[in-house]
Amino acid sequence: MSAMAEVMQALAFRHVPGELPQLLATARHEQLSYEAFLHQVLALEAAGRHQRLVGVRALAAHLPPKVTLEGFDFDFQPNLSARHIRELAGLSFIATCTSVVFLGPPGVGKTHLAIALAWQALDAGSSVRFTTMARLLDDLDTARQRGDLGSRLRAYTRPQLLVLDEIGYTHLTAKQAQLFFQLVNARYERGACILTSNKSFSEWGAMVGDDVLASAILDRLLHHADVISIAGQSYRMKERAAFFLPAVLPEPAPRTPERRKRGRPPTAQQDHGDVA
Ligand code: ADP
Ligand code: MG
Repeated sequence: MSAMAEVMQALAFRHVPGELPQLLATARHEQLSYEAFLHQVLALEAAGRHQRLVGVRALAAHLPPKVTLEGFDFDFQPNLSARHIRELAGLSFIATCTSVVFLGPPGVGKTHLAIALAWQALDAGSSVRFTTMARLLDDLDTARQRGDLGSRLRAYTRPQLLVLDEIGYTHLTAKQAQLFFQLVNARYERGACILTSNKSFSEWGAMVGDDVLASAILDRLLHHADVISIAGQSYRMKERAAFFLPAVLPEPAPRTPERRKRGRPPTAQQDHGDVA
């Protein structure tokens, strides 16, 4: 092992060794200053370590694979303000313990946006926990039966950002509704949330199975909240249509941007008017 390789091993450099020949060649070619070269090497190692740490923290946060706001097609959801979402990406909602709520029918990108913001928060150093409503209730109910609800609740109340996905796919039992209330109450004004739901708030009473409890939950959630209703088309259906249509339709004429616009199905206006 060369002396340099030994030193890098002693310093636990993982990211520089493989890149060093290329870095040296580029530095020679571009006649980099000693300072610029040293900075390049150290920055490469620091970035690699940061990425690795983010990966480890993403696993602990139960975050799904990374998606980004850059990968979100805002043109496909013209009713959604790209500026508003980019503002959220500035992450001030975490410091203010605000709840960001994405409402809308399936496939409009609620989970995509929630995951993208969660990765952004994780990357910026915030502690994050991602879960779905079904998994959360399952976990808390098991803990309750084991008698350690308090410690399980802390796993969801401690992180600076909790993402609770897929609220509204199932109706809650009375016990589940209580657990959900306990969680919302415990996080109230203590941490930020991103919630996604296919149900408008007026339907939460039926989902929770108790109007009084539902309004106590909504009261806390919406005290500091940013509610974003996405009343558009399902992106999944768009992808499916692109997959199936060529097989069933005659050869289409060449697509121009104008044709593409007109060919798009009309926007389904889901009624979230009471919450916007
Ligand atoms: P929802 O949670 O509203 O049901 P998802 O976020 O799961 O919808 O979106 C379904 C799929 O479509 C995902 O793979 C997501 O990445 C993709 N998707 C949805 N909307 C967009 C969009 N506007 N641009 C790019 N991909 C999108
Ligand atoms: Mg979803």
